[in-house]
Amino acid sequence: MSERAQIDNFTELGLVERREALAVGKFDLVKEVRRLSAKIEAKSVLNAFLETTDELAVECTSKLAHSEEAFPLRGVVLAVKDNIALKDHQLTCASKILDGYKSLFTSTALQRLSDAGVVIIGKTNLDEFAMGSSTEHSAFGPSLNPFDNSRVPGGSSGGSAAAVAAGLATASLGSETGGSVRQPAAFCGLVGIKPTYGRISRYGLVAFGSSLDQIGVMARTTYECAKVFETMAGHDPLDNTSSPVPVPDCAGNLDRPLKGLRVGLPREYREGTIQPEVANSVERAAKVLKEMGATITECSLPHTKYAIPVYYILAPAEASSNLARYDGVRYGLRRGTPPPTPPASGGEVAPPLPPIEDIIRASRQAGFGAEVKRRIMLGTYVLSSGYYDAYYLKAQKVRRLIRQDFLNVFDDFDLLLTPTTPTTAFKFGEKTADPIAMYLSDIFTAPANLAGVPAISVPFGFDDKGLPIGIQLMAADFREDLLFQVAHQLEGVAQ
Ligand code: GLN
Repeated sequence: MSERAQIDNFTELGLVERREALAVGKFDLVKEVRRLSAKIEAKSVLNAFLETTDELAVECTSKLAHSEEAFPLRGVVLAVKDNIALKDHQLTCASKILDGYKSLFTSTALQRLSDAGVVIIGKTNLDEFAMGSSTEHSAFGPSLNPFDNSRVPGGSSGGSAAAVAAGLATASLGSETGGSVRQPAAFCGLVGIKPTYGRISRYGLVAFGSSLDQIGVMARTTYECAKVFETMAGHDPLDNTSSPVPVPDCAGNLDRPLKGLRVGLPREYREGTIQPEVANSVERAAKVLKEMGATITECSLPHTKYAIPVYYILAPAEASSNLARYDGVRYGLRRGTPPPTPPASGGEVAPPLPPIEDIIRASRQAGFGAEVKRRIMLGTYVLSSGYYDAYYLKAQKVRRLIRQDFLNVFDDFDLLLTPTTPTTAFKFGEKTADPIAMYLSDIFTAPANLAGVPAISVPFGFDDKGLPIGIQLMAADFREDLLFQVAHQLEGVAQ
């Protein structure tokens, strides 16, 4: 490959090749960052970014260049979902209510990545407060799918997916509450992981459903995804839900043979309306794994059908209390205060401030979009006295059964193979009028969040319109290493 070609294809090179090219001075990271910022500008129609941080990126890059240290993630240019805190930068969560707010600290995940040499190129678009599956609920307009601009990139981490798919970054961070990394990864032809609950610190991730939320990664290759994952993962005293379980070497074990691997195909993930090409990809992947020495057997997760109703009770319930903090007093947008008046003189009394409830009501009314308000109302309803037992408590009990299904199945299987989503990327507007139709696109992803187990989406083929198809692998708690290993080997044969 000529030097010129390498420079042009920076984001398409593998991480190892990028590192090698950097090491021998084949290209200059500062120039690369500048080129990517220009490309982001040129592709602004995608609306992938809400803020670019090129000055910071250039500053980090120069610092890296002048250091003797061998930063393990040098060559990773990262796009970050705008619900993950980066000191002195915006943190809008794609909501008007946080307009103008600047983060006072950096999330643990981003701090660890920066320390390892990652360069942050910008903050990406999302559904407001990560509530949605298409980015159509962003207060700043939707992001477009780079494969077909009339289609959604998925959500809620749609900007992060579009950024990597369009070659505007080499990897991105998203967040998962019910599928928001895996579904956009599937729609945009990327590898996307949702780690085990507690694996990556949530310190600096804006809370949506705290018992479900996890930071996840998207990248073009499993290797890069694994490298970013293992750098962020591991215990953090700043997050009391963070797990002390040690993080194994993931990226170093991708080629371990799969002989003897016990793979389950859950019956419930083959029912209902699934686009035939998606079902076909799962079948093909099963065949490939068999050829690699795995055993493939049908299995059952009998409570799967309750996952969507349970998720859409628990996630809004948690959201309704987490979002109570946006009151127009402490953060961002404030409405309902009288316009400034000339200073009172000659004994006149300045007009009193309105009651605080009026400020809170007006700020929340103006600051939140329709979907966020719907979730707050749903959540408040299921938590209210008289309905708590019937909805919230019952949903908690069913969540336990869903987790138990996974524990049972992982006694007999190492890995589960399913579609990531029932269909490939859908068109803008196709599901906005019917929230239930939108919620059902999470049908195969939400169970892993409810159970807390890790899951990954890997690109595996295309449909007849040329749209990428994602297949999903799920494993027992803390077995991300196994997910990466299998994903990497499937990636090697995916067309
Ligand atoms: N689509 C789901 C929702 O709207 C999941 C979102 C997410 O994982 N953040 O809640």
